[in-house]
Amino acid sequence: MNLFAGLEDIVRQDVPLSEHTWFKLGGPARYFVEPRNEEELLDVVQRCHESGIEMYVLGRGSNLLVADEGIDGVVIRLSHDEFSKIEFEGEVVRARSGADLSFVIRECARNGLSGMECLAGIPGTIGGAVKINAGGRFGDIGNVAQSVKLMDSSGYRFERKRHDIFFGYRMTNIMAKFILEAEFSLVPDDPDQIGKMIKEVWMLKKNTQPMKSRNAGCIFKNPRALSAGALIDKAGLKGTNVGGARISRTHANFIIAEDGSTATDVLKLIELVRERVRQRFDVELELEVEIWQ
Ligand SMILES: Cc1cc2nc3c(=O)[nH]c(=O)nc-3n(C[C@H](O)[C@H](O)[C@H](O)COP(=O)(O)OP(=O)(O)OC[C@H]3O[C@@H](n4cnc5c(N)ncnc54)[C@H](O)[C@@H]3O)c2cc1C
Repeated sequence: MNLFAGLEDIVRQDVPLSEHTWFKLGGPARYFVEPRNEEELLDVVQRCHESGIEMYVLGRGSNLLVADEGIDGVVIRLSHDEFSKIEFEGEVVRARSGADLSFVIRECARNGLSGMECLAGIPGTIGGAVKINAGGRFGDIGNVAQSVKLMDSSGYRFERKRHDIFFGYRMTNIMAKFILEAEFSLVPDDPDQIGKMIKEVWMLKKNTQPMKSRNAGCIFKNPRALSAGALIDKAGLKGTNVGGARISRTHANFIIAEDGSTATDVLKLIELVRERVRQRFDVELELEVEIWQ
């Protein structure tokens, strides 16, 4: 552990990533680091940068599939309190990247600030949500984001303002390794009304998605003007399995990891779906879930 000498309190080796992903799949991370503050993060990042070892940033692992072989690198998780703070200033909420998205949504509602409720039911952190511009039919996090504080893979810290950031469909042009903090501009509204909206969005998700199973949300992005789920359904794939990985019967764009499944099963099932949809509809499905291998 020479690489992290003196940082033994925050660095562990061979940590199973299955414990940190919604799929509950994935092999071990060679190093798993949970810095307690930004200075420790900087120290870790500089050491990784100098040694050339690859870094991976982990939120709640709700949009990730990690290979069974694990990760020969350093997985960094900003989970300590210092990275989870949120504060309100007028109509602006400032959230550190490790803050739980649903907690932020609830706090905004409690403070009578509207704009985040469209994200109800999406698991994960602020960092993960900003990174891929999480959202759905009611709106995306990019709609309310005003600025982000970032750290690149050499440890350089800087800020980017809204006019400088492109928020697209489940993507952004944020290339810096770490999102440290994001600021959101909201509008005042009645807390009860906001609460009602949260419930509606949440109920809709609950009724149409297999929320309680081991999954990673939508596997594929919707192709332009098409629904990936509808294409998979029309290809007759609902319920199809490879080993313990199965296409959800509730929502065909979800893959469920059943007991005994492996990440390899999921990867094979993803390829099978792509192949069938390509053959049947001449459509190339693009991944929404991120694969670490
Ligand atoms: C049941 C279910 C429903 C879902 N529904 C939706 C939905 O409706 N809409 C939607 O958009 N998504 C949905 N998802 C997917 C997922 O919840 C979102 O993509 C979420 O924003 C991921 O956040 P996370 O913290 O878990 O990120 P992770 O999955 O841990 O990571 C995702 C990406 O973000 C990066 N990342 C994480 N934190 C940081 C950081 N601090 N700095 C830089 N990069 C970072 C990671 O490196 C990775 O590239 C769903 C998932 C599940 C399981």
